[in-house]
Amino acid sequence: MKLAKKNKKVVIIERHKEVGGGCTHWGTIPSKALRQSVSRLIEYNSSSLFRGHEKPKHLTFPEILKHASSVVRKQVQLRSGFYDRNRVELIAGEASFIDANTLKIIKADGSNEQLTAKQIVIATGSHPYRPAAIDFSHPRVYDSDSILSLKHDPRSIIIYGAGVIGSEYASIFRGLGVKVDLINTRDRLLSFLDDEMSDSLSYHLWNNGVVIRHREQIDRLETTDESVIVHLKSGKKMRADCLLFANGRTGNTADLNITNAGLAADGRGQLKVNGQYQTEVDNIYAVGDVIGYPSLASAAYDQGRLAAEAMMDHQSTAKLITDIPTGIYTIPEISSVGKTEQELTETKIPYEVGRAQFKHLARAQISNSLVGSLKILFHRETKVILGIHCFGENAAEIIHIGQAIMQQKGEGNTIEYFINTTFNYPTMAEAFRVAALNGLNRLF
Ligand SMILES: Cc1cc2nc3c(=O)[nH]c(=O)nc-3n(C[C@H](O)[C@H](O)[C@H](O)COP(=O)(O)OP(=O)(O)OC[C@H]3O[C@@H](n4cnc5c(N)ncnc54)[C@H](O)[C@@H]3O)c2cc1C
Repeated sequence: MKLAKKNKKVVIIERHKEVGGGCTHWGTIPSKALRQSVSRLIEYNSSSLFRGHEKPKHLTFPEILKHASSVVRKQVQLRSGFYDRNRVELIAGEASFIDANTLKIIKADGSNEQLTAKQIVIATGSHPYRPAAIDFSHPRVYDSDSILSLKHDPRSIIIYGAGVIGSEYASIFRGLGVKVDLINTRDRLLSFLDDEMSDSLSYHLWNNGVVIRHREQIDRLETTDESVIVHLKSGKKMRADCLLFANGRTGNTADLNITNAGLAADGRGQLKVNGQYQTEVDNIYAVGDVIGYPSLASAAYDQGRLAAEAMMDHQSTAKLITDIPTGIYTIPEISSVGKTEQELTETKIPYEVGRAQFKHLARAQISNSLVGSLKILFHRETKVILGIHCFGENAAEIIHIGQAIMQQKGEGNTIEYFINTTFNYPTMAEAFRVAALNGLNRLF
């Protein structure tokens, strides 16, 4: 869009039947729409006002999936409208390189077309990692793409891989009343988070009945018509109605014939780029999941814009922000920006902590969102905000208030902002005022 608005001739090639990418069809949008329905279901079932003495409402995965597909439809309409309005030609087909300026496009009807361009952006995304030893053709074995075609209503599920995707799906299935075994190959859940956030997530998943196993590796998978049995290297085994394998993703480069363009991908199918999103071949740029970290739709949008900027102006110094916020849509939700307590301790930065518990906020009491907290980490001498960590309903929205202050230059970044301003009342944003007062009161 950025290039088209600057009157560049832009063509987009997409192999899926609809635009929107994995973000719209298999990733962000469907998983967040599923989570929203499950959250409302939990709220309804736990509300004495709405549910009264009725038996709990039960929704199946295919039922909530229907609502998610209506969101996907709206997103596709919106996005195809953008292409149309900005005169970006859309070619339906699978692209691969003939050379650094030429692409071959295989269309759905089998016909071929060749396109040449001065510059090319690779934004082909990623797909779930599928180890050869796991039979993904079995009807009870899913990855995060194929889970969206789950037709039956499982009573139990094993989720292998407790990263963001595995943890989010653990929350969704548990919210639907499904028995969940979550197998983590690492020591703790989402170890990149502040320890308190990771501990809170572990506690709440555990408290909701999710069985979490840390430091485990799959040895083999046994499948029958009725169930799946996961044998772990530790000797444990577990049985469930189905398996969701969510242990890593691979960049979509295997079908691109990138060697024809002089490019090579690493072992995870990812491409190397410089600060301007330019690959090792000058006229080819790459953005999004295909370049790896942070593998977020949020960052991919900005990378696309920055790459476009660099393609028009090679001297461009525009950069992605360094503190990219994390939004994790588990139940409860988690969001963070900046440093964790572990990082600050390791680098010996003298910091102080200000905390607000949601249960003490009027707005949280009104909306019955009592689980959660906000914590602000700030420098005890300069009062500069160093990190913000939020756990609980709407954490991913709440975090941006603090992020806006944290991003201010010079003296603009100070925790004192939150006590020198007036907040609407009652709001969840008030957590910033409460946490700031709590933290500043700790100084001596
Ligand atoms: C379950 C799940 C939940 C997620 N939740 C979040 C979230 O909450 N927040 C967030 O920020 N991120 C989230 N993500 C990550 C996010 O979806 C990705 O980071 C984002 O989609 C990456 O965008 P992209 O443009 O790089 O690739 P994609 O969105 O995957 O798009 C790539 C497109 O390229 C097409 N393509 C591939 N190869 C070819 C070819 N050879 N020819 C033509 N077309 C091709 C594909 O069909 C696809 O449409 C989630 C991901 C998953 C799987």
